[in-house]
Amino acid sequence: MIFRFDQITVDFPESSGPNPNAAAAVQELLGGKFGEMSTLMNYTFQSFNFRGKNHFRPFYDLISNIAAEEYSHIEAVTCAINLLLTGATTRADRNSPSKKPSKVVDTAKNIATSGSADPAPLENSVDYRRSSHFLASAQTALPMDSEGRFWTGQNVFSSGNLKLDLLHNFFLECGARANKIRAYESSSDPVARAAVGYLLVRGGVHVVAYAKALEVLTGANVGALLPIPDVSNKKFPEARKLEENEGLHLIMYHQSKDYTQLAKIWNGPHPEDGKPLVVTDEMPKGYPFPDLDEEPQLSSPGDIDPAMIKYYADKLN
Ligand code: MN
Ligand code: MN
Repeated sequence: MIFRFDQITVDFPESSGPNPNAAAAVQELLGGKFGEMSTLMNYTFQSFNFRGKNHFRPFYDLISNIAAEEYSHIEAVTCAINLLLTGATTRADRNSPSKKPSKVVDTAKNIATSGSADPAPLENSVDYRRSSHFLASAQTALPMDSEGRFWTGQNVFSSGNLKLDLLHNFFLECGARANKIRAYESSSDPVARAAVGYLLVRGGVHVVAYAKALEVLTGANVGALLPIPDVSNKKFPEARKLEENEGLHLIMYHQSKDYTQLAKIWNGPHPEDGKPLVVTDEMPKGYPFPDLDEEPQLSSPGDIDPAMIKYYADKLN
């Protein structure tokens, strides 16, 4: 079971945008092969499918716990995309006179000459990287990668062999890290960088967690491979701040009181800076979920103007 909190783990700044092309790039971190939807569903399926959990309980707890955290990462990336898209089209006034029957006109040409409304409020969107943000959704995130390819269950690896699944998860987190670094380098927008900085730190925790799990299971020194790619999180100011001020790279949050054996894997020194790893019962710090304003030009969320309905009904009769 999952219990939801209406909070978000990233403290988002103001966007310098609108920045719809940065939003398109950040989609890779949501619905790409190595995106947050993939990490969530990989660990979710592996935890559902786990065999022999009595014998291998710390590994089950770890995979299940990280799966739950990944849900909050989908929220964070989606939120970043939505904030970057805000303002990308011309927002109509929901009380615009053009919506009232006395001003309703029959053609775009008439609207254009009436001066009462923008006849093509979405016109800019045809030049943006992802038209689907404006045609298939109301200027919001979709479960797709940066090229508009929808996320697929083929991205899920759940072999049932614990060593193989952990090795895959370690690789998945390292691949995700490579994508995050490139997404960071793709946009200077503070919203994009706040999200990516946070995800670099928490993804870094998962890289280390799966390395440690492999070490506990096999004795191999997987941590010696780190970091992959060969660049420290501390190079990125938004990530460095979270590591230095809050120690977010050291903490494994209990996402459930039922996962009691996390510390059997998450212990000892961090492989990069040697600081002690800790498991905490505290929740991650939460921030208010940013509110998205209405976008009347996209009929979102849409309201019904009784006078307008009557006007069209009368015309049709
Ligand atoms: Mn993640
Ligand atoms: Mn992760």
